[in-house]
Amino acid sequence: MIRKRDFRRLFRGLRFRLAISYAVLFTVLLTGVALAFRARLASALDNQIQEELNADWAAMKGYMRIEQIPDFGNRICSAWYYDENDPDETTIVLDIRKIYMVADQFGNPIPDSVTHEPSVSTAYDDIGVDKPADIRKKVLEAIASTKPRNPFGDRKTSKGEPVKIRSGIVYSEGHGAPRAPYYVAIGASYADNVKTLHAYTWIFAGVIPGALLLGSLLGYYMAGRALTPVLAVTQAAQRISGTNLSMRIPTRDAGDELDYLILTFNRMIERLEASFQQMRQFSADVSHELRTPITAIRGQLEVALFTAETTDQYREAMFNALTDIDRLSQIVRALLLLSQAESGQIVLQKSRLNLCEVVDDLVEQFQIPAEAAGVRLTAQLPPECSAEVDRVQIERMITNLLSNALKFTPEGGAVKMSLQVLPQFVELVVEDNGRGIATEHLPHIFDRFYRVPGQGTAPTPEQGLGLGLSFVAWIVKAHNGKIEVESTPGKGTRFIIRLPNEGVGSDTMELASQPANF
Ligand code: ADP
Repeated sequence: MIRKRDFRRLFRGLRFRLAISYAVLFTVLLTGVALAFRARLASALDNQIQEELNADWAAMKGYMRIEQIPDFGNRICSAWYYDENDPDETTIVLDIRKIYMVADQFGNPIPDSVTHEPSVSTAYDDIGVDKPADIRKKVLEAIASTKPRNPFGDRKTSKGEPVKIRSGIVYSEGHGAPRAPYYVAIGASYADNVKTLHAYTWIFAGVIPGALLLGSLLGYYMAGRALTPVLAVTQAAQRISGTNLSMRIPTRDAGDELDYLILTFNRMIERLEASFQQMRQFSADVSHELRTPITAIRGQLEVALFTAETTDQYREAMFNALTDIDRLSQIVRALLLLSQAESGQIVLQKSRLNLCEVVDDLVEQFQIPAEAAGVRLTAQLPPECSAEVDRVQIERMITNLLSNALKFTPEGGAVKMSLQVLPQFVELVVEDNGRGIATEHLPHIFDRFYRVPGQGTAPTPEQGLGLGLSFVAWIVKAHNGKIEVESTPGKGTRFIIRLPNEGVGSDTMELASQPANF
């Protein structure tokens, strides 16, 4: 059973609407063409009857004369001259005389020389003899007018049969008759033409609904065909879920709009897949990072509980456990901060400050650890560099970069920090001549928990959490800036940060859509 909802869906469906559009278009077009043809046919049929009447008129002028007949009391009569033995002539004349009338210029029908009756045929009488006043007017018009008047008119017989009449002026001549204008009208029935026109109209009236039905069915079929790939795309899209994001909708290589849609859709899924992958990686990394110190703490506590005998052994186990707890809370704090950043909960506290002072203070603070590590730390600063930034975040950013540079630069190396004010932005560079980063690792160093392998996988208090550069990238982005890194293994690394000169940036860091890689 078809439910009401299915019906509604059918009527609202694109296929149905397309089919209806086809049908409407088809009907409008067909009706337009039919009407145009009908008008053309009607005019052709009208021309035909007019030409027939013109020919009859010319023949009538040849066979009929208006003259004074002596045998008929010298009255003015209409007389027909033709060879009665010639069947052609007889047919033509009889045909003309079927519907005809002759009247003088005052509108009075004149007698017929043969019948002695007024020269008005019975058929003409049936369609209605013209009123004398009308005839007078027409004769006067015909004599006076320079431009030819329309000689045709339409009448109807008492049975409703259409008749076309052609009227005009014929002058009396010969046999002593004074030359005077006479009104003559001849007619011909065009019932057949009207029938032809009606037949044509009925044919179309029958054809249009048929065409409409055919058009709708054809439209429905064609719309269905056109929409099949859309349905396929929909079904494919429905099959894609969080667990099978690797699926792609196959393109049809048609290079059309639908292929473009599929391509766009696939790209979207690709991005989603990457995000999902990053999220999965992140959860795995977090649990791994948390598990390591927890296992260590457990180990220390077990040592204390089962094997420690002296106070010193207890103290050592406790000390080690505390160190691991410190690392654990460090990770938790960092993660909390990152998740706050992600969800846009951290609001930048921007103020205009002299960046040179900030950098100078930090470089000063880092002199002690630098000296301890045997690394030469220098700064190259312009006299003044004002920028609209969040002091805490910028300090966090520089601290991370400097501590990384010191951490990965061996004794005897150098770390240089420089600041440059350019027309569009402020450029901050931290470079070292330390161990450098291999090219294949460069794209990942801003990922959370990413540490370049081969530098000790087991985390130690000295080793970072792999979160520092994630923070740096996030802070730069929050200030609407850009970060670049250039590095040559064994030669050193160079971080370049460009912050917009005006420090224009969104105050709220909305980075939730980019979970793992700022
Ligand atoms: P970490 O807290 O481990 O330093 P970061 O996110 O700050 O984490 O850095 C990620 C990784 O990038 C580091 O583990 C290190 O391998 C590499 N790295 C960062 N800065 C430098 C640098 N100046 N020289 C060499 N390697 C670096």
